[in-house]
Amino acid sequence: MGDLKSSSDPQNLDWLPVEKQFATLAVHGGYGKDNKNLSSIVPPITMSATYEIDVPAVHRGYDYGRTDNLSRKILEQKLAALDGAKHGICYSSGLAAFSACLYLLKNGDNLLCSNDIYGGSVKHIMDSISRLGITVDFVDFDDLEGYKKALKPETKMVFLETPANPTLRVFDLVKISKIAHDFNKDVLVVVDNTCLTSYFQRPLSLGCDLVHYSLTKYANGHADVIMGAVITNDDSLKDRLKFYQNMTGAIPSPFDCYLVTRGLKTLPIRMKAVMESSLKVAEFLIEHPKVDAVFHPALPSHRGHELAKKQCSGHSGLMSFRIKDDAGSAIEFLRELKLFQNAGSFGGCESLAELPAFFTHLGVPKETRLLLGITDNFVRLAVGLESTEDLIEDLAQALKKC
Ligand SMILES: *Cc1c(COP(=O)(O)O)cnc(C)c1O
Repeated sequence: MGDLKSSSDPQNLDWLPVEKQFATLAVHGGYGKDNKNLSSIVPPITMSATYEIDVPAVHRGYDYGRTDNLSRKILEQKLAALDGAKHGICYSSGLAAFSACLYLLKNGDNLLCSNDIYGGSVKHIMDSISRLGITVDFVDFDDLEGYKKALKPETKMVFLETPANPTLRVFDLVKISKIAHDFNKDVLVVVDNTCLTSYFQRPLSLGCDLVHYSLTKYANGHADVIMGAVITNDDSLKDRLKFYQNMTGAIPSPFDCYLVTRGLKTLPIRMKAVMESSLKVAEFLIEHPKVDAVFHPALPSHRGHELAKKQCSGHSGLMSFRIKDDAGSAIEFLRELKLFQNAGSFGGCESLAELPAFFTHLGVPKETRLLLGITDNFVRLAVGLESTEDLIEDLAQALKKC
């Protein structure tokens, strides 16, 4: 298994190095000495819905709270800085941010979508896309030849999530972007980067066009805000995404923007902590006689391990495992847990456990679920910030009783 300490250190040479200035940008991005003219060290929460403008109609930066807001702008600039990008646009949820990406498509366009993405995004696509005259094809991005064949002249967007959730499959962003852009330079490659955040993965630097986030998870980090964002370097895409933000009105509140700005300041230390802890949990589980598979990209035995090290700087606290069918019941296991709580979502301080087949992926057809290995005994863990020893002890006692 190697030296735990060094294998979970994101600065370890084995992984892509973390951007050197990342921690400084996490603290100062969007509101540092160079870009603030207020003396307060902490950014303000500006609640005003409307603004006084000069007569007859010239505004001094702000005219209406839906269009722009200082607390939101500070957060958007911090998010852009953390992805090494020019623009960040925030929305009222991760799914609202996803909608804004879909608005970039029009009648007759085709979307190529990974078969392994967030369940809510699938529901959204299935309901709205066909009604808007946009076609969608689901592809397995592990099969690059199949992906190449699926690209059509009408394909205008490729959407995927890596590592995928809850299977933790890793897809090659450099190759996927290159294939799309060689086929047609105008195809937009969009990556849902919620699971790793810009601390561990920066899709724009790997050739992708847009990064999508549910900030609800690690970015805010405290499980008390629902919010999303889209990040890009492209000025005209930014203008369109900003227009949809204003025109659909799917904007986050200034108070929530303040909370996410605050949460992001500790993103590097939180991500390092959950990586170290989740890897120790994975290493405990892999040795357990009742467990038949553990999914964590930092495990050398993980199928996507080498690729993960090439395109990421580490992994988060999201992981999964399977209890042997003849060894115990995942339902009983969940009932016995005392510290892990049975809940969806991830990225907060509290550790969570859930059974995707019964909860987050209940809507996925059973054959697709089984194809992805999501059996009834498949458990997803979101390792939080509690003492690792306590988490392992909890898993051990629940596995004994299940
Ligand atoms: C939670 C989540 C979403 C949806 O985000 P909301 O903020 O809940 O709307 C999208 N993608 C991934 C990977 C998620 O985990």
